[in-house]
Amino acid sequence: MPRRGIFAIPPHQLFLMLVWGYNPPMSIGDAKKRMEVLRKEITAHAEAYYVHDKPTVSDDVYDALMRELRELDKHYPDFADPNFIIYRVGGKPLDKFVKVEHAKRMLSLNDAFSKEEVEKWQERIIKLLTPRRQGLLGGEISYFCELKMDGLAVSLIYENGIFIRGATRGDGFIGEDITENLKTIPTIPLVLKNAPVYLEVRGEALMARDMLKKLNKQNEKEGKPLFANTRNAAAGSLRQLDPALARSRGLTFIAYDVADLKANNYKLEAHSQKHSLLRMLGFTLDTHETVATNTKELFIFIDSIEKIREKYPFGTDGVVVSVDNLELEDELGVVGKAPRWAIAYKYPAEKATTIVTNITVNVGRTGVLTPLAHFHPTLVAGSTVSKSTLHNMDQIERLGIRIGDTVVIQKAGDVIPEVVEVLISMRTGKEKKFSMPKQCPVCGAIVEKREAESKKEGTSVAFYCTNPSCPAKNRRGMQHFVNAFEIYEVGPKILDRLQEEGLITDAADLFTLEEADLSGLERFGEKSAKNIIESIQSRKKLPLWRFLVSLGILHVGEETAKDLANHFGTFKNIQSASFEALEVIPNIGPIVAKSLTEFFKNKSSQLFVQKLLDVGVDPYKLEAKNYKLSGKTFVLTGTMEGMSRNDAKAKIESLGGKVSGSVSKQTSYVVAGNDPGSKYDNAQSLGVPILDEKEFLKLVQ
Ligand code: NAD
Repeated sequence: MPRRGIFAIPPHQLFLMLVWGYNPPMSIGDAKKRMEVLRKEITAHAEAYYVHDKPTVSDDVYDALMRELRELDKHYPDFADPNFIIYRVGGKPLDKFVKVEHAKRMLSLNDAFSKEEVEKWQERIIKLLTPRRQGLLGGEISYFCELKMDGLAVSLIYENGIFIRGATRGDGFIGEDITENLKTIPTIPLVLKNAPVYLEVRGEALMARDMLKKLNKQNEKEGKPLFANTRNAAAGSLRQLDPALARSRGLTFIAYDVADLKANNYKLEAHSQKHSLLRMLGFTLDTHETVATNTKELFIFIDSIEKIREKYPFGTDGVVVSVDNLELEDELGVVGKAPRWAIAYKYPAEKATTIVTNITVNVGRTGVLTPLAHFHPTLVAGSTVSKSTLHNMDQIERLGIRIGDTVVIQKAGDVIPEVVEVLISMRTGKEKKFSMPKQCPVCGAIVEKREAESKKEGTSVAFYCTNPSCPAKNRRGMQHFVNAFEIYEVGPKILDRLQEEGLITDAADLFTLEEADLSGLERFGEKSAKNIIESIQSRKKLPLWRFLVSLGILHVGEETAKDLANHFGTFKNIQSASFEALEVIPNIGPIVAKSLTEFFKNKSSQLFVQKLLDVGVDPYKLEAKNYKLSGKTFVLTGTMEGMSRNDAKAKIESLGGKVSGSVSKQTSYVVAGNDPGSKYDNAQSLGVPILDEKEFLKLVQ
C-alpha cells in the first residue's frame, strides 16, 4: 500500500521540514552548494570588516548569514569547514604593525538572539557543572551582567603599575602592538594608583556616537570615505601608524575584565570583584552592571538596557552575561573561540537575510495584481517573517529580485516587513526572473496593463484582472465590506466557508442568512450560528459614511466618506450627485469625483446597491441637530483629564466637525489639554481660538 500523508515523505526531507518549516528549502546537494556560497560571502564581508575596517553589510546582515551557516553546519557536519571563521576569532593582524603574542588568548563570545536562547545556555552550563557544584549551587547561579560595547577589543599590560604594552585582539592568539596609539586615550592610565606586580586588563576602545557624526561630517566635506559605525571608526583610528591622528579622534577606553593579575594583596573570586578592582586601580568602567541572582533579575537587567541603549553615548548591541563565580568559570572553560561561562545577549535585529522561495500574485479588491514574495521563515525584529508584498513590477525591477535570491529583509518597529536589498553576489545561476502572469491566477481572465491613478503616487502602471466578477475581487471586497459594517464575528474563514457552501455570492447575501443555514454546517454550533446572525442583522442600520466605505469605491476611504456624508446628508443625494457637484467639495477633487460618478453609473454596482437596500440595509440620515459643528476643524493638543483623545475626536465627528493633525489659518479651534505641544504656540501665532478642556466640553455638550 502506498504510504500517505507524513509517512510518504522521505526521512531526510521530513527532518528539513522540521528545521525550516513545511517547505524544505533545498536538497542535500543544494545545501552543500549553499554552504559554499555562504562561506564565500561571509569571508568577503569579514575581510572588509576586520582587516580594512570598512564593512560592506550591516552587522545584522552579517550575523544572519553566520547564523544560517552555523545551522547548516550542524545539520550537514560532513560539509562543514572546521577552520572557517565561525570557529575562530575573526581578525587578522596587519603587517604594518609589530605582532604581539597574547599570553592569554583573547576570545570571542557566543551569541543568544532571544531570551529562550539565554535560558538554554543556562540549562547547558548547569548540566555541565559537576554534581558537587550543582549541589552547592542549589540550582541557581549568580550572573554578572554588563553592556556589550561595540568597539575594538584591546589588551593592556601593566608591570609594577606602569603601562608597557597595548594590543588589538587580532586572531585571538596574535594581535597588533598599538601601544603608542593607546597612550593617546585619556581614560587609559599610564601609571596605576595601587600598583600590582603584573596586570593584564581587557576592555573596549570606543568612539562616541556624537564623535562619529562629527568625524563623518568632516570626512564628507573633505571628500574622504565615511565610517560605517563607531566600531569601525574606533578600529580605523587605532590601527594606523600616526598617534597624533589617534589622539584627534577623541577615543575612550572602558575596561571590563582582568585577564591576569600577580599581586600579593588581591584575591579575586568573582567577575564582579574584577570590576571593583579595576575601579580602584583608576580605570573607567561603565556604570550599567548588576549581579543577577536568578533568571528573573537577569531579564529585568536586559529589558532595562533595551530602554536606554538608544540614548547611550556609545554603540551597544547587547548585554554580556557571565557566570560571576570565577571557580565555576574555570570549571566551564572554553570551547572553540568562546568561553562557555559567558554569552552575549543580542537585541532583536531589524534586518535579516533569507531566501525568496517563490513570488506569487494576489488579486485585490480593485482587481489589481500584487506580487508577494515568500521566504524561508526568518526571525526579524522579534517576529518570524515568511512573506512580504513587493507592491508592483516597478518595485521588483528596482530591487532586481529573482526567485531563489538571498535578500535582506527589514522590519523596524511596527513596520510591515519589506525586502530592502538583494545580495547579488550570492547568486548561483539557478535564480528565476519573475514576470506578471498574462491571465488572472484566480479566474483565468486576461490581465491588462493599465495606468493607475493614486492620490499618493500619482500615475503608475499596474496589472489588472479584467473580469468584473472575478471571485478574488469578490472575496476581498466581502472582507472589506464586513469590516466597514463592523461585523467582527464574520472573519475571512467564515466568509470562505459560506462561499464554498454556496450560501452567499456577494456581501448583500449575508443579510439573507438564517440561523438554520449556519447551524447545519460542520463546526458551526447553534450558539455561534445565532451570534453571527444576530450580529449581521444588528448592523443593518449604520452611519452613512461606513456604508460608503463598504462599497469599496476607488479612492473613497474613511475620511472622504465622512466628507461626503457630512456634505450630502443622505445616500440618495450622493448617488445622484453630478461630477461638478462632487468636484467642488473641499478635499474631494476630480479624481474622487470621477471615481464616484463612474461607480454609480456602473450597472453591476447599481444592482449591488439596490440589493443591499432591498434586504434592509439602512444608512443613517444624519439629523440636523447633529450638525452643530459641521464645517468646523479642530486640532487637539495635550492631555485632557476627563476625555481621551479618541473620545474627543469621536465626539467632534459625531457633531459634524473634523479633526486635523496640524494647525493652519483654516483651523476653527485648537483644544489644549495639559502639557500642550507646539500646536498651541502655532495657534497663538496664527490667531486661532484656543479652547481649554472646560470650554471644549461646554461646546460639545
Ligand atoms: P563579538 O564582538 O560579537 O563579541 C566578542 C567581543 O565583544 C569581545 O572581543 C569584546 O571586544 C566585545 N565586548 C564588548 N563589551 C564586552 C564586555 N562587557 N565583556 C566582554 N566582551 C565585550 O564577537 P566577534 O566574533 O569579535 O565579532 C562579531 C561581531 O562583529 C558581530 O557583531 C558581527 O556582526 C560583527 N561583524 C560584522 C561584519 C560586517 O560585515 N558587518 C563582519 C564581521 C563581523
